[in-house]
Amino acid sequence: MTSLEIHYTSTLHYITCTFSAHTTFSSISSTVTITTATTSFFPMAPSFHTTHPRSTTPSFTFIFIFFTLCIFSIYTLHHHHTPSPPSTTTTTHPPFSSTFLNSASNYTISTYLRHLTLHPHLAGTTPSSAAVDYVISNFKSFNIQTHVTNYSVLLSYPLYSSLTAHFSNTTLTTAADVVVSLPVREPEMGFESEVVKPYHAYSPSGTAYGKAVYVSHGREEDYRALSEIGVDVKGCIAVVKRGGGMSRNAVVVKAAEKGVLAVVMFTAGTGSGVERGTVLDGVGDPLTPGWGANGGGDVERLTVEDGEVSSRFPVVPSLPVSAETAEMILESLEGPKVPELWKDSDMMHKFDVRVGPGPTFLNFTYQGENKMAVIQNVFGVIKGSEEPDRFVVLGNHRDAWTYGAVDPNSGTAALIDIARRFSLMMRMGWSPRRTIYLCSWDAEEFGMIGSTEWVEQNLVNLGSKAVAYINVDCAVQGPGFFAAATPQLDDILFEVTKKVTDPDFPGSTLFEKWRTNNEGPPMIERLSDVFSDFSPFLHHAGVPSVDLFYGKEFPVYHTVFDSYDWMVKYADPFFHRHVAVAGVWGLLALHLTDDPILPFNYLSYAAQLHNHTQSLYKLIRGDVSLLPITSAIEELMDAAKQVADEMKKLKEDATKDDVSVLKRRMLNDRLMFAERGFLDSDGIQGRQWFKHLVYGPASEGKVGFFPGVADAICGSKKQAVIQHEIWRVGRAIQRAVSALKGELT
Ligand SMILES: [Zn+2]
Repeated sequence: MTSLEIHYTSTLHYITCTFSAHTTFSSISSTVTITTATTSFFPMAPSFHTTHPRSTTPSFTFIFIFFTLCIFSIYTLHHHHTPSPPSTTTTTHPPFSSTFLNSASNYTISTYLRHLTLHPHLAGTTPSSAAVDYVISNFKSFNIQTHVTNYSVLLSYPLYSSLTAHFSNTTLTTAADVVVSLPVREPEMGFESEVVKPYHAYSPSGTAYGKAVYVSHGREEDYRALSEIGVDVKGCIAVVKRGGGMSRNAVVVKAAEKGVLAVVMFTAGTGSGVERGTVLDGVGDPLTPGWGANGGGDVERLTVEDGEVSSRFPVVPSLPVSAETAEMILESLEGPKVPELWKDSDMMHKFDVRVGPGPTFLNFTYQGENKMAVIQNVFGVIKGSEEPDRFVVLGNHRDAWTYGAVDPNSGTAALIDIARRFSLMMRMGWSPRRTIYLCSWDAEEFGMIGSTEWVEQNLVNLGSKAVAYINVDCAVQGPGFFAAATPQLDDILFEVTKKVTDPDFPGSTLFEKWRTNNEGPPMIERLSDVFSDFSPFLHHAGVPSVDLFYGKEFPVYHTVFDSYDWMVKYADPFFHRHVAVAGVWGLLALHLTDDPILPFNYLSYAAQLHNHTQSLYKLIRGDVSLLPITSAIEELMDAAKQVADEMKKLKEDATKDDVSVLKRRMLNDRLMFAERGFLDSDGIQGRQWFKHLVYGPASEGKVGFFPGVADAICGSKKQAVIQHEIWRVGRAIQRAVSALKGELT
């Protein structure tokens, strides 16, 4: 049924395009959508919603739609030629970037999201293949070359879980001693639900019985605060509130270090929803660290007992629970009041929380199984016409804990829509200069497994040929645009947001609102944290990367409530934010693909490194010198200035003779390779897979750059160790300088 509709869609696209190549794509999109959409879409369409109730008869609906479309088509026919503001970086393809923007359609995106979220699609499970097929059939229907790569990897699923509380005070209950079975699944799920019950992937199986103790976010400072008020957590079951910059893995590992027997985790403000998640340390398949877990063929696999594998799993079991369940436990605790440090927490105002331990006892059981499963990455490839061996990679994961309307299929819907629009442009004669990869990753939720295996398998070609990676995970979680990037991409990111209309203020550009929200230049975050599929590209392969999304956070994250209905009701009723993200994503891709000179600005990188170093001054004590870093940054600044001059000259030179083409290509290579300079073959100490010494995960602390230096400052604190890490960063920056200059010493 699904594929039939898709096929029909593509046929219509084709026919419409054949007959009127210059018809606006807005009108084409609308035609297609109405043909394929079911009535469930009408309430979302702004022009239908207010005037046209669901109950209208089909014939009237058809007449109404027909007239609306006529008006819409006439409108768009007269408006689609409105020229986009002239691009400062692109001179060769403005007609296609405006075609891209004008062919935006909230209808198609909503259709894709509706289909993708009909069933849950947890990685490695049978229902997930419907989402795979849906992406494949769409790419194929757009005549985009499509292939799938399979990997056999170790995933993790729940078998049984239970949590009972033995309350022994009378504040909550009528009796003095009551044993209550606490819910370990969302009430809305029902027992026949196809949604996986809440669990932590890769948690060890185990049972535990002990007093409940509240440890806030479970950070080192939280345990210190507890010990200052005389609370011993040994032998207890810790109740932890998610947040505070701690990954699930870090929370459980820290708790085990403190002698906790098991961990119960909740997310404040989520009501009865339970946040599923992985507790695996690091990224990628546990059994094939550093190399691809290619499906089928002979592949070396470590055993689960191997230290390198087992060290990635926590040693004590953990379970997620709802905020409601956690509150029941917390309300029953006695002992000292929560430390001053935690008072900012919104939850604390609700009741007078005491930290325990006890008197409530918890009886905790979790049984899970780690087992081999096949995961599938889907790729749509648009071959470059002039530089087919240079790759621009767009990626989004497809697997979801539940229905995944926000996480991640808002991004998948946007990716499919970009594919649709690129396909329309190709029919109009567009042929990208460089090769575009549209990637739909699997098993991101377990630890970026699909993308990591692929990057590991393709490391040499990506290292030598990948221009940039643009990631979108949750495209829309709510209001407000956010972007994170490596700094040489800041300028082009600003540039494209000036061309995209703000979805919430149609009279403004995305850039204008983004700037006013931040009072000053728009805030672009950096990519040190490991929270989506950009990690293998940037942290392992040194590919310049971007991550885009709407909405800071959302309450249904990884719960059964992350559904299409929630999206329509709360996050993006008219799918305009989806359109905006797809606009920025696609325009960025177009520039990176088609600009004769890559739109990279290393002056921004040098300026950002300078700012990082200023922040580092505040953390350094004693005799440690930052000179290795500061002098390398000065060299980078000089090289970046020279390159900027060269770029300007080459941009002005529009000649297409072989020598000019080669000159541009040589400069582009230097721009592309500079990021690779930040990689170090030894990687970050203790987590060698992470090779990038400027951006990568630090084991502790909140320093979002120079992870090796940050670890040395927070960890050993020995001056010689800190100084060594500073030298390593200095050398990494010098390698980037050397790549940018492109000369041997
Ligand atoms: Zn995600």
